[in-house]
Amino acid sequence: MEQRTCLQCGQNIAHKRSDAKYCSDRCRMRYRRAQKTKELVAKLVQLCSQIPNHLVQNAGEVTAIVILNEKDGKYQRIDVKTLKSLPDEELKRMIKWKKGEVRAYEISNAVKKWVGR
Ligand SMILES: [Zn+2]
Repeated sequence: MEQRTCLQCGQNIAHKRSDAKYCSDRCRMRYRRAQKTKELVAKLVQLCSQIPNHLVQNAGEVTAIVILNEKDGKYQRIDVKTLKSLPDEELKRMIKWKKGEVRAYEISNAVKKWVGR
């Protein structure tokens, strides 16, 4: 018999309907929530990769974001595991904030072009 396992917990679900992907509703919800968080983290990482002083650490997959604070010269390292443990609302807030930074950077670049520096 073909071996099928729950996408969330890995439990054997061979006894379930052939199109079942999870062992329970709980696992289905957990998996979906985790996917949503993953998407938010990916969006945040993508934004950070466009901002100066932001470094995306990558070891096969993204492991951390490192942000240089120009004011005090200190680095802040946030690993992806930590990001994934944050509530979605917090991630959404960070995405909004980083979008603003990307926009500010684009504007300052455009201004530099106009003044010919
Ligand atoms: Zn499960």
